[in-house]
Amino acid sequence: MFRDESRFRRHRGACPYYRENWTHGDQRTPDGELLLYEVYCLKGWPPTSTDEQNSCMCSVRRCWRNGEDHRITPEESAATRATSSA
Ligand code: SF4
Repeated sequence: MFRDESRFRRHRGACPYYRENWTHGDQRTPDGELLLYEVYCLKGWPPTSTDEQNSCMCSVRRCWRNGEDHRITPEESAATRATSSA
């Protein structure tokens, strides 16, 4: 799994593991384009195209890539609360 950061942006209605890291507009891609944000998948399967990113943005309950269920178990929820209060 990819390590989550508080500065990463989430989107309501998107996969709960989808994150964006918005940049400050001073970075460029290898092609010289202005880098606006980076995209991460906390499961380690980042989208590699606009179509895949759109699929992640619509996969709130189940991963479009492998069908993995996104419902959070009570144990995972408790672990998240313990981590965020530490
Ligand atoms: S690849 Fe699957 S788990 Fe990863 S962000 Fe997209 S929908 Fe979520």
